Amino acid sequence: MGAENEYKNRASLTNMLSAAKRLFDISIKENGIYADFTAGNGNDTLYIKKACPSGKIYAFDIQKEALEITKKRLEQENCLDENVHLIHDSHANFKKYIPENTKLDGAIFNLGYLPGGDKSVTTKTDSTLCCLRDALDILKEGGVVVVSVYPGHEEGVRESEEISNYAANLDKRRFDCLYHRLINIPEAPFITAFQKKMNFEQENINF
Ligand code: SAM
Repeated sequence: MGAENEYKNRASLTNMLSAAKRLFDISIKENGIYADFTAGNGNDTLYIKKACPSGKIYAFDIQKEALEITKKRLEQENCLDENVHLIHDSHANFKKYIPENTKLDGAIFNLGYLPGGDKSVTTKTDSTLCCLRDALDILKEGGVVVVSVYPGHEEGVRESEEISNYAANLDKRRFDCLYHRLINIPEAPFITAFQKKMNFEQENINF
């Protein structure tokens, strides 16, 4: 392989989608229960299904078109079965669809608008935060929620500030909150990830 190709194939610090998946992988386990809160073009739903074929997935989108694309992608890869629930509604209403007392192993948000779709239909700070709060409530101990944030557009700026602020103020006895960002490119997408701690009441925190 030539030096140029070797460079091209190297993993890049700017690849946030790949970093989001690596973080999400922590939550993968047999028969896990997952939510994709922004199904979009179906990449994340498909990723989860492939990573955890025995798992249950609830995938939400407010755009019918997005769910149709997601459905087609899953069908093409033989990944659509009775454990994949494609839900045409806002993630803020997820409690209507995920049975009471269900605990999530993991959840993923890829915020913003549908790539290749209508850029005016984008996630909104208030509903995103409402969903995030409720999702963290029903997260299993050790479970992980990964949020990819896009501060390169107007609503994304507000969303990024409020999510970062929310994460920074979460009780450290209950959650570890990770901030994964290119600090010299403030408009670039970044990740906030949350993991619920185990046995937080007995834990002795040293920092
Ligand atoms: N995860 C997707 C993928 O793997 O292809 C990409 C998601 S795309 C960046 C963001 C999606 O969020 C859009 O399809 C948009 O319709 C959806 N969305 C916006 N507001 C939403 C809401 N309140 N509830 C659920 N989905 C929403």
